[in-house]
Amino acid sequence: MYGIECRFWFDPRKTDGREFWSNQLSTYIDALRKNGQILTVSVNPFLQGKSILLFLSLPAKDGLSKSNHNARSRSALSDVLRLLKKPPIYKHEGTRAEGSLECKHSHRSMHILLTNLMTNDSPLVCGDCSKPVPLFRLPYPGGKDFHEVLRWVSAYQSCEELYLDSGFGERFAWQQMSTPNSELTRRGRTLCKAWESIVRKPFYYYLPIEEPLSKANCPGCNGQFANLNQSSRFKHCKKCRLATS
Ligand SMILES: [Zn+2]
Ligand SMILES: [Zn+2]
Repeated sequence: MYGIECRFWFDPRKTDGREFWSNQLSTYIDALRKNGQILTVSVNPFLQGKSILLFLSLPAKDGLSKSNHNARSRSALSDVLRLLKKPPIYKHEGTRAEGSLECKHSHRSMHILLTNLMTNDSPLVCGDCSKPVPLFRLPYPGGKDFHEVLRWVSAYQSCEELYLDSGFGERFAWQQMSTPNSELTRRGRTLCKAWESIVRKPFYYYLPIEEPLSKANCPGCNGQFANLNQSSRFKHCKKCRLATS
């Protein structure tokens, strides 16, 4: 995960800072996020003189490069550029203390869909190196962006929060997270299936399990979990496309 400081000098003859943020810049940020180019959920824009300053987290160093934009982020960017006095200034701030650096494989034999409350990383992990894969490197599993994937991430993290709170929602949340046919799991597995049909490589859905891994059977088919590969911390069931660790 990389950090970047971005400064946008708006033209005060055409807009003012608050208007520019709420009409054009926030639309651009939303498009970048839904296209998997940035990981930041809450941007906290700062108005400084006639500029707006943002700090973004990127899943890869080239996250903001033009070639990674889709139609929506390109069009939102041109709306932003029209109101600027000079080109945006981007300053790379190095790698972030939390999160992992991305998978650098050009070909991956498999992917795993997983997330947790502690991370903003991409929810897709490479099955070969266990590192996150920037979403923008993959096709959409449907629709015009990764909105459905981000909705699944948010639903999963909400369940995990309820589970960790150990209160009224604990049992419901664990059932959603850990059973192969819960509504939450089905949503994620549908995404995996769609990706697999496009990419033509296996996409596994991560299911947390309570019992020790050595004794656990696949909750989908009751068969045995197998090692994903020699160095991986994940085990998987090929038939059900489920993974765990
Ligand atoms: Zn990899
Ligand atoms: Zn199975």
